[in-house]
Amino acid sequence: MNPVPLDKLVPPHVRGFEAYIPSKPDEVLKKLYGCSRLFRLNNNENALGPPPAARSVIDRFPSSRASVYPSGDAYPLRCKLADKFGLDPDQILVGNGANEVITFAIKAFCREGDNIITADKTFAVYEWVAEFSGYQARLVPLADFGFDDEGMLERIDERTKILFICNPNNPTGGFWDEKKIRGFLERIGGRQIVIIDEAYAEFMEAKDYPDGISLIGTYPNVVVFRTFSKMYGLAGLRIGYLVGDLEVVNIIRRTCVVYSVNVLAQEAARAALDDGEHVLRTREMIRQGKDFLIRELNLLGLSYIHGGGNFMMIHLPMSDSLAYRKLMTRGIMVRTMTGFRFPNYIRVTVSKMEAMEAFIEALEGILREGNT
Ligand SMILES: *Cc1c(COP(=O)(O)O)cnc(C)c1O
Repeated sequence: MNPVPLDKLVPPHVRGFEAYIPSKPDEVLKKLYGCSRLFRLNNNENALGPPPAARSVIDRFPSSRASVYPSGDAYPLRCKLADKFGLDPDQILVGNGANEVITFAIKAFCREGDNIITADKTFAVYEWVAEFSGYQARLVPLADFGFDDEGMLERIDERTKILFICNPNNPTGGFWDEKKIRGFLERIGGRQIVIIDEAYAEFMEAKDYPDGISLIGTYPNVVVFRTFSKMYGLAGLRIGYLVGDLEVVNIIRRTCVVYSVNVLAQEAARAALDDGEHVLRTREMIRQGKDFLIRELNLLGLSYIHGGGNFMMIHLPMSDSLAYRKLMTRGIMVRTMTGFRFPNYIRVTVSKMEAMEAFIEALEGILREGNT
């Protein structure tokens, strides 16, 4: 057999794209770095896990149901979300994580030669999906660690289809308030789709944090992303959704892969929505963890960036990849930020005090060692 003629088969935008390699399983990493326990502070997961009601759904899930297909369009969950937000269930599309709904939206609106606009230092999946699909991602530098509205407006041309705003921004935590987002939407004038990624909405307590879903009535070009991975502690089950104007969602539905969300995820997500206590308990954990980190980082003389969400960025006097390896040998996994175009920064998930104390102790250790 001849070798597969990949140079002929593979389009240039795929050939030029570098695959993202996720971290290895805990057991493999522990062996590799010689640590006996591992605090994963790299993915902004919720250390409290799912809310009790969702836990109970998971614990009691009858194995016989594994052989039956789920609701292909997450109908019961969409009804519950619609009830909660005062929407029509058909204004919601559920995906295998918010990551999947990003691909639905890009596929629905972009064709060859089109572009999307987002920030240079934000959640990278918008850029990646655009690029490996053959569309241009225009990356506007952050302004003061937040999205630059003027800069984004300047980059719009007749081939711009979608503007992605991560609110609050992962990894900086910066966010646009209600006034800023409305001003931006006024100037867009409905000519492009504006996606507001609210993966961390449930963590936000600031009075001026805008609820993107409430903007859809006035601005039908707005599409909002939410996820059950962060606040609701269901990252492992992979479930997220988008919300938009009925006509817009009816378009996106055409590119939506049905049956991609499993039955357990759908049912756990439905149960998770009932638990207000869980949100309050999580916010309290984040408050306590952040207060502690800020106090300790000040003592260590390190600078940091934070805002909304369950994470903080820390600037280190060494390369982030070296810091990563050194922290790993001490059982702490963080996110290196060079990939987010923030060299020498790490992003740390705010978690339970036990993990925060272990992180600070490890950080002190590696700072003492220096660049060796
Ligand atoms: C975690 C995250 C997502 C993706 O969440 P999944 O639902 O787990 O795919 C989307 N956007 C941002 C900004 C995130 O941080």
